[in-house]
Amino acid sequence: MINDFDFTRPRNVSEALAALAHDGCVVPVAGGTNIMVNLKRAPLDADLVVDLSGVEELKSISVNNGRVRLGAGVSFAHLLDWHPGAAIEGLMHPMCVAFAGPLIRNLATVGGNVCDASAAADISPPLLALDAAVELQSAAHGRRTLPLAEFFQGVRRTARRPDELLTAIEFPQPAEDERWFYYKLGKRKADAISIVSIAITLRLEQGKVEHARIALGAVAPVAMRAPEAESLLQGESLDETVINAAAVVAARESRPIDDFRATGAYRRQMVEALVKRGLTEITQQST
Ligand SMILES: Cc1cc2nc3c(=O)[nH]c(=O)nc-3n(C[C@H](O)[C@H](O)[C@H](O)COP(=O)(O)OP(=O)(O)OC[C@H]3O[C@@H](n4cnc5c(N)ncnc54)[C@H](O)[C@@H]3O)c2cc1C
Repeated sequence: MINDFDFTRPRNVSEALAALAHDGCVVPVAGGTNIMVNLKRAPLDADLVVDLSGVEELKSISVNNGRVRLGAGVSFAHLLDWHPGAAIEGLMHPMCVAFAGPLIRNLATVGGNVCDASAAADISPPLLALDAAVELQSAAHGRRTLPLAEFFQGVRRTARRPDELLTAIEFPQPAEDERWFYYKLGKRKADAISIVSIAITLRLEQGKVEHARIALGAVAPVAMRAPEAESLLQGESLDETVINAAAVVAARESRPIDDFRATGAYRRQMVEALVKRGLTEITQQST
């Protein structure tokens, strides 16, 4: 189902921003893997479609001054091929392997995943665990960055203004001794929407937790961190009592719903089990 709309294919970010500044309803399209599926449900409500696939600037990954920058147009196939070091690969590679299948991974972009703002979007927990921020640009207001957690505002709602382009996602390069855990629970090992997904990063300083970030997907209206569980871990040794307590608190912080994939009660139990498993595995990880 397609209505009449104009179409443009900018060659760089400036042209894309100029296109997004047009009056009317302007819809950026990256890989199109969400937008094409949505067309089955409703016609595309657009006066102008801006095809971002020709904007090469959006497709690069770089590391500068300790900050990692993922262009919004980086595909999941590219992410899977990228070897930046243990902690990032430990989160991103299993996430990419469990993401859709190879054909979709070639098209689907990280920016599209973030902008679609599904609570089950697979990139969100790893990015939240890496303390990521999004970079948005518009022709009228220039550039701004905001923490990813603030970008997500509700079910499929973000802080992006209609004339803004998500240009990049940035996060600090993890320390060499950063520990990590990632798990996606779905009905299948690949090509499945997550029932629960979890990403943890954690660093120990002389045996005590220096920082812990626990990020959860598909258990609240938006992908979330578990701040109470994180503060409970702060400064503690990772023994069984502390791990169990953090897992119980993280499960309590989650707000899962019942749907055809799983009940809310099951999801909450899985949060507890996976936080416990993640923190336990982290204690055994050599850095
Ligand atoms: C068969 C299949 C399997 C899938 N499996 C998974 C899965 O396992 N896990 C998962 O998380 N998702 C999955 N998806 C969903 C989808 O592939 C992802 O959400 C993907 O990352 C979307 O990226 P895209 O580039 O295709 O986005 P698009 O469809 O092009 O765009 C998605 C939304 O983001 C906006 N947008 C895109 N880029 C920008 C930008 N730079 N700035 C501003 N707005 C932008 C668009 O306007 C649109 O609203 C699957 C989809 C299909 C069809």
